[in-house]
Amino acid sequence: MNLSPIYKYGEKQEIYCQKIKDYYKNVLKIKSPKAFVKTYGCQQNVSDSEKYKGMLVNMGFCLTENQEDADVILFNTCAIRENAENKAFGNIGWVKNLKKANENLFIILCGCMTEQKNIIDKIKLKFSFIDLVFGTHSVHKFPLHFYEALLNKKSNGKTSAKAYIKETEDIIAEDFPMVKNNNLKAFLPIMYGCNNFCSYCIVPYVRGRERSRHSNEIISEFKKLLESGYKDITLLGQNVNSYGKGLEEDINFPKLLKKLDSFEGEYTIRFMTSHPKDATNELFDVISNSKHIAHHMHLPVQCGSNKILEKMNRKYTKESYLKIIDYAKSKIPDIVFTSDIIVGFPGETYEDFLETIDILKKVKFHSLFTFIYSPREGTPAAKLSDPVTKRKKTARLLELLKVQEEISEDLHKKMLGKTFRALAESFLPETNELLCRISGNIIVEAKGEKEKVGNFLNVLITGYKKDSLKGKII
Ligand code: SF4
Repeated sequence: MNLSPIYKYGEKQEIYCQKIKDYYKNVLKIKSPKAFVKTYGCQQNVSDSEKYKGMLVNMGFCLTENQEDADVILFNTCAIRENAENKAFGNIGWVKNLKKANENLFIILCGCMTEQKNIIDKIKLKFSFIDLVFGTHSVHKFPLHFYEALLNKKSNGKTSAKAYIKETEDIIAEDFPMVKNNNLKAFLPIMYGCNNFCSYCIVPYVRGRERSRHSNEIISEFKKLLESGYKDITLLGQNVNSYGKGLEEDINFPKLLKKLDSFEGEYTIRFMTSHPKDATNELFDVISNSKHIAHHMHLPVQCGSNKILEKMNRKYTKESYLKIIDYAKSKIPDIVFTSDIIVGFPGETYEDFLETIDILKKVKFHSLFTFIYSPREGTPAAKLSDPVTKRKKTARLLELLKVQEEISEDLHKKMLGKTFRALAESFLPETNELLCRISGNIIVEAKGEKEKVGNFLNVLITGYKKDSLKGKII
């Protein structure tokens, strides 16, 4: 049974949104307050920010792209890599200057970073000018926490409210207002959290346990997106293809896809991120028989060495991963695979690394997100001894990228002369080209008119480089 409580946006949130609106108008005397939202990290965070923006609009804020203009600045942060945290801290530090010039400026920090104790300690020590800090478990209480922090700021007579909210309940937030970034492509979260505990990953600690939304909620949101003209909808989840576990209804990820595939009209369904342990034959059977599901799967392999995969707690072997790929290709010959690779995991020898090169050559991924391993405090892998130098790891990464470039170029070459159905997503006025996305999630640049944006077109591949494709609309 799914025990996660569901919180629907409603009267409770609206009351606090109205109070904030009144506060800005009557107490702070700001007629049209502006809010700036900066998002770091993955699509899940982009989707959460759409909710924060929706609530900010209900609080009477206009959204601005310029943080110097803003009365509220919200940073929605990411914890996946140290780099992302350093970037966020760099920007937050800069905002301190804005606060000196405007003591009414209200600064909010939320997202994955703020679920970590060491980060909260750092904020208290060095970034105490931030007014409100809350984590991923508090999306539904944003209006309440914001209002209370505003009052606190006023009553303590100081320039910051210093509210640190820590909640641990794994919730599902439904029916929240949203401001979408795009009118063709949309993200639709279908599950939250992760139960896998890969040894290098902080996500299960900051996003909580796996929980799935009820399929009727997803289907009704999906239908609304189609009715509003969205043509490319990506289902989101930290382990998206594990969808349905713990729900009372008879559903799993392939069954949900089948339902979403059943609507009229031309549209594409994408999903990410998939875990190999849930990449079942049933899933590929559904994709191969579908009208709308993209022939693309981002399936992180991380490494080709069984010894390292075990240390990573990935729950599959090189052989079982390759078996999945073989089955998928037998059912969907034009399927495009992309992946994530971590180079230099603690204990990785050059022989282990060569196993990764081997899996690249066997699968022929179209493209990769590659990372040199960096430890995340609080994860089991951070405690492993790591004798390989950064220099060696960088050399391995460069070697891997060279192999991948050749694979990508070769795959592009094989597409030459073929015609693909593609969605014209945007127009480049400098070159009069349309950027068109094919089912396999590859962009093709083709001459065309701006008015075609938003349409599905037939594109003939006429040229290629290792990192791009040229085409002709036919
Ligand atoms: S599957 Fe592993 S890497 Fe992905 S979010 Fe879960 S724990 Fe992290």
